[in-house]
Amino acid sequence: MNMSDPGCIFCKIVSRDITTEFVAETSNTLAFRDIAPLADVHLLVIPKQHHRDVLELAKNAPSILGELMNTAANLANTYTNGSFKLQFNTGAEAGQTVCHAHAHVLADNVKDAS
Ligand code: AMP
Ligand code: ZN
Repeated sequence: MNMSDPGCIFCKIVSRDITTEFVAETSNTLAFRDIAPLADVHLLVIPKQHHRDVLELAKNAPSILGELMNTAANLANTYTNGSFKLQFNTGAEAGQTVCHAHAHVLADNVKDAS
């Protein structure tokens, strides 16, 4: 299986060919701020491996999907008050524009760090 797609924008983030602000990294996942935020908190969590969407990730690498969920939970705990949306757009008609599996962590509350 091809674990990287040279034309994929998120694979370029994984390889650091495109720079962005990372908020978390684990062995198999990366997280960064969405470039066009739709909420006060808008983070993306991706597997480092290229899988077309969350269903392909679930089928081909379920343990990495589990790791991704754990990363998302840690970010939600850090950046939100515990109420958040976890969204996987799947398919163009559902609004998926980047064909590399990713979870949106969305919240209109920001955790008060004080
Ligand atoms: P989706 O529409 O579910 O495929 O989500 C793709 C998301 O990736 C969109 O919300 C974009 O704003 C975001 N995005 C695209 N390019 C970048 C980038 N270079 N850095 C951060 N976020 C990006
Ligand atoms: Zn990719």
